[in-house]
Amino acid sequence: MSASMPALMPVYPRCDVRPVRGEGVYLYGERGEQYLDFASGIAVNALGHAHPVLTKAIADQAATLMHVSNLYGSPQGEAFAQKLVDASFADTLFFTNSGTEAVECAIKTARRYHFANGNPERHTLITFNNAFHGRTMGAISATNQAKMRDGFEPLLPGFAYAPFNDLEAALALVDDNTAGFMVETIQGEGGVSAATPEFIQGLRKAADERGLLLVLDEVQCGYGRTGKMWAYEHYGITPDIMSVAKGIGGGFPLGACLATAEAAKGMVFGTHGSTYGGNPLAMAAGEAVLGVIQGDGFLDNVAKMGERLRSALEQMIPNFDHVFEPGLRGKGLMTGVKLKPEADARQFVAHLRDNHGLLLVSAGENVVRILPPLIIEEAHIDEFVTKLSDGARVFVPAADD
Ligand SMILES: *Cc1c(COP(=O)(O)O)cnc(C)c1O
Repeated sequence: MSASMPALMPVYPRCDVRPVRGEGVYLYGERGEQYLDFASGIAVNALGHAHPVLTKAIADQAATLMHVSNLYGSPQGEAFAQKLVDASFADTLFFTNSGTEAVECAIKTARRYHFANGNPERHTLITFNNAFHGRTMGAISATNQAKMRDGFEPLLPGFAYAPFNDLEAALALVDDNTAGFMVETIQGEGGVSAATPEFIQGLRKAADERGLLLVLDEVQCGYGRTGKMWAYEHYGITPDIMSVAKGIGGGFPLGACLATAEAAKGMVFGTHGSTYGGNPLAMAAGEAVLGVIQGDGFLDNVAKMGERLRSALEQMIPNFDHVFEPGLRGKGLMTGVKLKPEADARQFVAHLRDNHGLLLVSAGENVVRILPPLIIEEAHIDEFVTKLSDGARVFVPAADD
């Protein structure tokens, strides 16, 4: 035991909110105080907190069979994988326990594809400025953000970086070693920046013409968050490989790497694995979430709530121009608002949390992220707008930060 080092490795700047219970769109702290949760565990609690369908599925499965080795057959995994395949571009998938593992699998699948084709020299993925793909060595090597990489060198070779939404710059990096492109359809941590249609469609076209792979990271933007099942559906293209996590388990640790049969052709017996990946408990949680999201009218309602939220924000933002820059970022219930340079996004998030009981998340480029559970109703949006307005009205940006 050390006096200076807490038992939890202090890699997070944890705040004073200490949630002990959740219900729907609300979180409750140790002293019983209530928060309107428009952060959703950073786009994870898609069904809000303690959704009865999800908690029952987990409880029932936990009492039946929690874990078996992937050495055995998996009726639960086969059934859930088939549903995801049917609901997406993919032919096949690998289950993981997190987003970064799904990205790791995507990187391996892309390299292995070219290996299987007899082109092992095609190992480099072109990725993008401000990208966030997770925290494994592979995932931090896939971003050029110094704050995630510093001190962890040597990083994994085989990545090249271009400005986001700059098609020409990406194409200029393509050479004999290029495996493909890996990109968030909508950047989350980087500042809620949606790819432009020309950019994504241009990457798709270049990949088709040059035998490269398009890898999408939809860990944050996928799974219904934008009002469509997958963010790529807004762009009229499909990827070859895609990482998914966050909302997929509704709070249970779960991720997946989806691929076409062609792109996955190198991922044969023995090439990859995970002790926990796809365990029966995770599959039960995943099936429960998917069942709700695929229910009648659910995604239509997400799209509708997204529009309502965004039009409410568009109306209120100009009233507080000492805090907000004009314009909204993102799509649907993945929305970002950029703050004025003198108003620090982290300070504003802390102010809303501590003084107005509203939880949001900051992102890069001085953006505040609004990521409510997908189950929100109009009344929650009204409550949110009231809290945000109240918070903005009295927010005094600190002079020197
Ligand atoms: C959160 C996130 C990850 C990492 O997911 P973890 O579950 O934290 O490992 C990867 N990519 C994107 C786009 C993310 O938002």
